[in-house]
Amino acid sequence: MGARARHDRTGRTGILGAERLPPAWRPVEGGAVLVIARPRSAWHVATVVSTRPETPGSARIDLDVAGWPGNEAGQHLDVRLTAPDGYTATRSYSIASSGGSTRVVLAVDRVPDGEVSPFLVDELRVGDRVEVHGPLGGFFVWRPDPITAGAPSPGHRRDPDPSAAPRPVQLVGGGSGVVPLFAMASAHAAARDATPFRLLYSVRSPSDLFFADELAALATGDPEQPGALRVDLVYTRRAPDGDPRPVGRITRERLEATVLPAGAAPRVFVCGSTGFVEAVASWLLELGHRAQDIRTERFGGT
Ligand SMILES: Cc1cc2nc3c(=O)[nH]c(=O)nc-3n(C[C@H](O)[C@H](O)[C@H](O)COP(=O)(O)OP(=O)(O)OC[C@H]3O[C@@H](n4cnc5c(N)ncnc54)[C@H](O)[C@@H]3O)c2cc1C
Repeated sequence: MGARARHDRTGRTGILGAERLPPAWRPVEGGAVLVIARPRSAWHVATVVSTRPETPGSARIDLDVAGWPGNEAGQHLDVRLTAPDGYTATRSYSIASSGGSTRVVLAVDRVPDGEVSPFLVDELRVGDRVEVHGPLGGFFVWRPDPITAGAPSPGHRRDPDPSAAPRPVQLVGGGSGVVPLFAMASAHAAARDATPFRLLYSVRSPSDLFFADELAALATGDPEQPGALRVDLVYTRRAPDGDPRPVGRITRERLEATVLPAGAAPRVFVCGSTGFVEAVASWLLELGHRAQDIRTERFGGT
């Protein structure tokens, strides 16, 4: 499935036995907060609207998904490719977008010897169709706070009880693991949610950053304003010229120095390769974070 020739020897991607479209579950506007009324997952036909390199090793793929019921920030979907001989391959991908639109954004990293990801990154073309199943996952999800979303400014929240401060959120991503975290940070900004939000992003080098421009935009501005994001980058192979930060994999000490402390009782979302997630989650526990406050998503690999 890694090459188009294998996937469809006659040209464009074929489809694909899409059985039916699901009943539409419409988003419900609730003040400033978009609430998706428990969308039901189903198989849908998705058409590629655009695809472009996100980094030298990955692609950002915009899909228009017929009958898509909307999704929450952090959810994923399954992509199914079907070859003319009926052979199918299915892989999960996080959704970089959220809300009620039928437009769904993916960011796929090329696993060099992989079956599906090289096809998605290198071979997929505008107008191609694939099947997607979703939205999936209700645990690794961040929802805008109905109280603090749309807050005009800190200190002027709509929350009548000042003691009911929102619990801060710490995102920790490695490589393409930033995809669902980016969806959360974007939803947080779009809702102008006053919950303090931080992202610790471990990435090989500056050119490997996913959503570099968008993250930079989210991270500029007044950190005290609703919707603000603080981004801490860890470069594992190469840092920008003149960057004083040490280069290398995240360590327990680096994690401790960078993330919100356990005493701040943050909700923590960790996503990346299996090894990355397991290391970070075990260090967070050692640092005193409660297991029930740590949500993880593993992308596979080591
Ligand atoms: C819930 C979920 C969400 C995901 N979201 C994304 C996403 O947003 N973007 C994205 O790029 N990927 C994501 N993945 C990973 C994706 O599902 C595939 O595993 C990945 O694209 C590799 O598929 P492949 O067919 O190319 O490789 P395969 O043919 O399945 O595997 C080839 C080799 O690569 C190894 N491998 C498999 N997955 C990885 C990996 N992620 N990293 C390194 N080595 C790997 C395998 O162990 C095997 O040795 C997600 C996975 C899950 C479970």
